[in-house]
Amino acid sequence: MKAYRIRDEINGITEPPGKTWFWELEAGVINADRCVQCGTCVAVCPSNSIGIAEGTMLPELVKMCTGCSLCWDFCPRGGFRYEAAWPPATPSTGSDAGTVERTDPADPYWRITGAPPEDGLGAVLESYAARASVRPEGAQDGGVVSALLMAALAAGDIDGALVTRPSDDPAEPWKGVAHLATTGEEIAASSGSFYNQTMALAELDLSRYRLPPRPRIAVVGTPCEIQAVRAMQSRGWPTGAHRVDAVVLTVALLCTKSFDYRGLMLRLLRDERGVDIERVAKVDVIRGRLIAEYRDGEVAVDEPVKHFHGAALKGCDECADFLGRGADLSVGSVGSMDGWSSVLVRTARGRSALSAARGRLDLRDLDDPGALARLDALDKKVAFASLRRPFDTGAPLFIDYEEHVRCYGSTDRSPVVADR
Ligand SMILES: Cc1cc2nc3c(=O)[nH]c(=O)nc-3n(C[C@H](O)[C@H](O)[C@H](O)COP(=O)(O)OP(=O)(O)OC[C@H]3O[C@@H](n4cnc5c(N)ncnc54)[C@H](O)[C@@H]3O)c2cc1C
Ligand code: SF4
Ligand code: SF4
Repeated sequence: MKAYRIRDEINGITEPPGKTWFWELEAGVINADRCVQCGTCVAVCPSNSIGIAEGTMLPELVKMCTGCSLCWDFCPRGGFRYEAAWPPATPSTGSDAGTVERTDPADPYWRITGAPPEDGLGAVLESYAARASVRPEGAQDGGVVSALLMAALAAGDIDGALVTRPSDDPAEPWKGVAHLATTGEEIAASSGSFYNQTMALAELDLSRYRLPPRPRIAVVGTPCEIQAVRAMQSRGWPTGAHRVDAVVLTVALLCTKSFDYRGLMLRLLRDERGVDIERVAKVDVIRGRLIAEYRDGEVAVDEPVKHFHGAALKGCDECADFLGRGADLSVGSVGSMDGWSSVLVRTARGRSALSAARGRLDLRDLDDPGALARLDALDKKVAFASLRRPFDTGAPLFIDYEEHVRCYGSTDRSPVVADR
């Protein structure tokens, strides 16, 4: 088992011999505190043998494992190879829009960073700073993601969108849960960012939603989730209940880190700082600070994000895909002024979704495209550092302050997580 537990060993050429069982994923990823709660293992399992443990929100075996190995092979902290899913610089724009040519998958740099050194921001057809003309209440930045989804739904291009909405459980205020929104109202009610992972791809079992027999849906997700969709779509595998085939549009949210819900919202904010979570209107991780605001505008918390690192998902340290290279569209706050979103259009499918939403959006050039590249570089650096660190020691990562200043300078819109 030892050889399965460390990503740099995983990323060597050696494949595990023979079958890989769920309990190897469990030992190497879940019990090793490296799971990033993307839900890929649940979605990819052809016998629907993996469920979600109540309370921990981690994958668990709910019936017999057949040893098909797929949960391991597609787990972004297991055997998943970035180069299997990530595009090179030139996306296709023809009838196979959304697919991309692959550059040399033997390049070892891809195995860790998800892109060759010259890849820059990945495949980008167009880039903008954008904001919705009518910004949904609760939108995180420019409300662009919600506007894009509402336009696609109104145009009949999708039947629903996999988004994150607030939990209905009163004991879980400010917990995001995965949900397929099928109306514009539901999309608007799901705007804003939740700083917890939701096992989103498990929700691709669409059986509890009323949809046409051949549904077409959009997925909004963190880059790890979008990588997994891309990887699953690019491989033929015996599919289970999860309708990865229904995904016709992917939107990645730029992401350097996510958090454990209980650790962040309940322990660190509510219990330790006395924040009245029910009254919180917005949580943001921006310019190296975590800021929570109440509905009346009062600031509940404004502290360096490093004070909250105890609640961050450890597996995020290993992730080097800040920019969501595998998506049709990547959207984030870095690179644009407050109240606007940065949008990278990566594929023809992304371009046509943006065109359909043009009437709902103000578009202009990105304010600081360099900020995207700088945060991507830092993200990769943290991933490398994380891979060099023995997992068992739990030693903290340290990227020094001067480096942050060098990366982000004093731009108006510096990166969300400047200090990891
Ligand atoms: C965990 C996390 C970390 C992020 N880190 C960065 C960062 O480092 N740098 C950066 O520039 N931007 C980051 N973002 C993206 C940023 O917070 C905004 O989501 C983005 O700018 C889009 O804003 P918007 O106003 O256009 O979207 P909105 O119109 O507000 O729509 C946001 C959409 O995202 C969905 N969503 C919310 N939370 C989640 C979630 N946890 N998982 C999947 N979908 C979700 C919502 O349901 C909604 O559909 C992060 C987002 C998240 C969730
Ligand atoms: S990281 Fe994703 S695929 Fe891997 S064990 Fe966790 S939920 Fe499953
Ligand atoms: S940092 Fe990476 S692994 Fe963690 S939630 Fe974001 S995209 Fe996923």
